[in-house]
Amino acid sequence: MKNIIKSAIYIVSTPIGNLGDISKRAIEVLQQVDEIAAEDTRHSKQLLMHLGINTPLIALHEHNERAQAENLIARVKDGKAIALISDAGTPLISDPGYHLVRNAYAAGVRVIPIPGACAVTCALSVSGLATDRFCFEGFLASKASARLEQLQSLINETRTMVFYEAPHRIVATLTAMSQVFGSDRDITIARELTKQFETIYTGSLQQVLDFVQSDPQQQRGEFVLVVAGAELQSTNSEISEEVARMLQILMSQLSVKQAASLAAEISGVSKNQLYEAALRIKDSGTQNSSQ
Ligand code: SAM
Repeated sequence: MKNIIKSAIYIVSTPIGNLGDISKRAIEVLQQVDEIAAEDTRHSKQLLMHLGINTPLIALHEHNERAQAENLIARVKDGKAIALISDAGTPLISDPGYHLVRNAYAAGVRVIPIPGACAVTCALSVSGLATDRFCFEGFLASKASARLEQLQSLINETRTMVFYEAPHRIVATLTAMSQVFGSDRDITIARELTKQFETIYTGSLQQVLDFVQSDPQQQRGEFVLVVAGAELQSTNSEISEEVARMLQILMSQLSVKQAASLAAEISGVSKNQLYEAALRIKDSGTQNSSQ
């Protein structure tokens, strides 16, 4: 076994269900570090027992992260090696660790990733939806009105969108998505990934909603929702998809005129043509958001 570098913080991914998904390198690091910071020490003890690892565990969760981060960084500066794990998957992905990593860099401490399972990439890889560009939206707000507002802000998002969702909100969220994005928008629902009751179901939002509502079993467990992005407006056919996308990005920060002018300078397409296209994009955005 190769000795690990001391005086470093290791961000170690653990399985999201199937315990076979831990890497050899993750096991070596967890064996050799001086301490493992874990979101829930009782939960992580089970994993460590399964792996035959006796490294001491300490708690690092959202309520003590700032204080604990300082404490851990001080120990690393004294020559110790620390690993951070979360209950499942990759730390910091909808899990604690942000303050630890940020403060570690501020203190000149090395941070080393030990990659592995993550529900986002796991779901995307089997979604059958475009994966060349995607955005991760994490958990939507639990309050219905705030959730609707968040979804409305994504109405013109052309990248594939990935969401985490809890079982008691799955039907409400699919219903809200169907209202905002339209019932025929494609979605893949990935439930209980890598576990016994893994279900991956692809269809329109209406089909997936019907599937989930028709079977209470499908409303249990852990979920990732992968939603197709909005179609780039076909009315922009005279400009390429790439230029239309650039125009959309510029329009999120600038006036129509400024965006068209800058896009023309970058792309070489005529300013008038881009101005027309920008107005059409703006119009279609206004129509969508008033639906
Ligand atoms: N850090 C984790 C990761 O790398 O994916 C995510 C932690 S977040 C607190 C937990 C959420 O991730 C769950 O509510 C669910 O949305 C998603 N998730 C985690 N494991 C999953 C699985 N096996 N199947 C489907 N979704 C999962």
